[in-house]
Amino acid sequence: MKSIFLSIFLSVLAINTMAQDFADVKINVIKANGNVYMLQGAGGNIGVFATEEGLLLIDDQFSPLAKRIETAMQSIIDKDLKYIVNTHYHGDHTGSNSFFSHKAPIFAHHNVRTRLANKEPYEQVALPVVTYNEGINIYLANEDIQISHYPNAHTDGDSIVYFKKANVLHTGDLFFELGFPYIDLKNGGNVNGYLLAVDQIIARFPDDVVIIPGHGELTNKARYQEFADMIRFSIKHVSQLLAQGKSEQEILTIGLGKKYQVWSWQFINEERWLKTLISDLK
Ligand SMILES: [Zn+2]
Repeated sequence: MKSIFLSIFLSVLAINTMAQDFADVKINVIKANGNVYMLQGAGGNIGVFATEEGLLLIDDQFSPLAKRIETAMQSIIDKDLKYIVNTHYHGDHTGSNSFFSHKAPIFAHHNVRTRLANKEPYEQVALPVVTYNEGINIYLANEDIQISHYPNAHTDGDSIVYFKKANVLHTGDLFFELGFPYIDLKNGGNVNGYLLAVDQIIARFPDDVVIIPGHGELTNKARYQEFADMIRFSIKHVSQLLAQGKSEQEILTIGLGKKYQVWSWQFINEERWLKTLISDLK
């Protein structure tokens, strides 16, 4: 399962790849806490808030999976979809927007709409119809759903979604539970901004918060702290080497050291992570 996800994720982020065969992808439903669930298929983790009064969907993966995502949602509770949130504009989080936009309004940060509108081919129907700058609250079934923007981190349009009563947080791609983060430097992402956002999020929520990361398994604050510490070490290490006048090749040869090699994964291995750090910090 993981290898299917990884290869699809890799291919879709590469520009000009042909449509993938999603035939084998299954959507798994995992309970987070209260009425909040995580759906895993291919691409970014989906959050679902499922109540008698209706459903809220966070991110929607790739368009060939739209029907399967809908079926998985309805398997939790067969009620109307009321709201959709996009945590950022990347295609593995917004690919089914055009399918779900006929059922409910899509909420996102301003820059998500702008970036989706600049995409080729342009799809009017896939755009968020309610946008915000700093954040917005949605109230559904006695739950306070707090959506907050963090500037220039993974992209320039990142939001996280916190369910106050259920105590569940969907971080979008401000957390890669499975390894080194992808930081989209060409679309407003920033290495120091990413760490700042991660630190602020960790400090803001209760210690027992249940976390749905953008990629990886359902997790907790202790794991998020490990992720933050890895990024902090990486920034410090590469900054020191750059200050010593080391070239990119020398830094790649020195590496991050044994302790952090376990964070390598198919899409972002140690070399790609180091190159991101070097190009942003130099
Ligand atoms: Zn992303």
